[in-house]
Amino acid sequence: MGTQVLLMGSYRLRCLQCGRFVNDPYRLRCGDHTGLLRPEYATRSLDIKKAKSVFKFYDWLPISSTADSNAAPVVFRNERLNKELGLKDMWVAFTGYYPERGAFVRSCSFKEMESLPTMVRIRDKRKGTIVVASAGNTGRAFAQTSNDLGMNSVIIVPERSADRI
Ligand SMILES: [Zn+2]
Repeated sequence: MGTQVLLMGSYRLRCLQCGRFVNDPYRLRCGDHTGLLRPEYATRSLDIKKAKSVFKFYDWLPISSTADSNAAPVVFRNERLNKELGLKDMWVAFTGYYPERGAFVRSCSFKEMESLPTMVRIRDKRKGTIVVASAGNTGRAFAQTSNDLGMNSVIIVPERSADRI
């Protein structure tokens, strides 16, 4: 911690109370104040990339590389559902596996939007094996992403949830 600015990929962390930058990417506070640190990104406006996954938001993710993935939410209009509900222009936002609609989130959980950049960050920083405690969705997403990227992970789940992973 101090006045030196450490860039962690495309952002740096600043304490809003004292204005100092914090060089440790694993800290939440500056040490002297209770407020959470705020990331300041190298780019002020969001430039959407052509990626098919969460990596389209690369500029605002704490990563320095990406992975090949087409896991992303999709939005579509379903005529039958609109008719059934008596609506004219309802759209569905869907995160899951529905190839006919272009949805390829194989864990079927929105948590895969978290696990992808997290595992890429771990891969790039070579910080070892992630340990995830989860009752379901988070563990499933990290297991899927770990497998997709050929990385190890330890997923801890309650015994009653183990068959869902
Ligand atoms: Zn501070």
